[in-house]
Amino acid sequence: MKIILASPRGFCAGVNMAIETLELSIRLFGTPVYVYHEIVHNKYVVERFKQEGAVFVNSIDEVPNGAHLLYSAHGVSPEIRRQATERNLQIIDATCPLVTKVHLEAVRFAKERYKIILIGHDGHDEVLGTMGEAPDAFTLVESPEDVDRLQFPPGTRLCYLTQTTLSVDDANRIIRRLKARFPEIVGPPKEDICYATQNRQEAVRLLSPQAQVVLVLGSKNSSNSQRLAELARESGVAAHLIDGASDIDLSWFKPDDTVLVTAGASAPESVVAECIEFLQTHYGATVQSRSIREEEVYFPLPKELRVLVK
Ligand code: SF4
Repeated sequence: MKIILASPRGFCAGVNMAIETLELSIRLFGTPVYVYHEIVHNKYVVERFKQEGAVFVNSIDEVPNGAHLLYSAHGVSPEIRRQATERNLQIIDATCPLVTKVHLEAVRFAKERYKIILIGHDGHDEVLGTMGEAPDAFTLVESPEDVDRLQFPPGTRLCYLTQTTLSVDDANRIIRRLKARFPEIVGPPKEDICYATQNRQEAVRLLSPQAQVVLVLGSKNSSNSQRLAELARESGVAAHLIDGASDIDLSWFKPDDTVLVTAGASAPESVVAECIEFLQTHYGATVQSRSIREEEVYFPLPKELRVLVK
């Protein structure tokens, strides 16, 4: 068996920053540190932090008055910020700057009286946060068929934005349909699908055809990880989205297969290493690293922490 280890893979700059923020918050403020929703969508990362004293909440009501509350990499809506201020919470904002960029675009378009069509996945934390910036201005679409059903009064100013972790191909299909139906529609000044999503997808697109099986390390609720598995399947290769080596099923492989291994932006490198070790133990697999692009992106810690660690 041969393993092709795709690069870039795994943690992006936003996830690195969010994880570092929570580690440092626990060190500086002690436990519990409350986190609104999962810090990042990964089972291992969330479990590790639960053991270290982080408490993940789905509602601001669950946080005691005055406690420390961390916003996850996916960002939150202004309504959540308002509720947190009302309860006098001490906020540490680990929203990824690339998500904040989409929020700011939404605010600007809404101020200019545009109706905003958001391309994204219903119920995703990032989508809820972004749409919360201007609830009356937004309509969510998930497919070209959703675009066909849109109705706006003549003369409506229209723009579109996208979730940061979409499939580039799916998003382009929807954007093409939007432009065909609404030729006057405008888009964001710079595209919203983030560099990490694009690079991980590009690596899978280029390397999948060389493999018989693709393993994507990532949790089922991780949007960018799901897209990697879908992309591999689109190129006709069997792909499995797994949290770690314990999810591997030996019936997926033949002993002389080439297996492409990659990881979503929220999956730690330790689970990648664990899977490689598993395939080496069972099949004597050799490993070849293939990098299609270098990434040198770094996001600073939130300002609430920067002032404390100067
Ligand atoms: S996947 Fe992209 S938008 Fe999401 S946290 Fe990472 S860099 Fe930020």
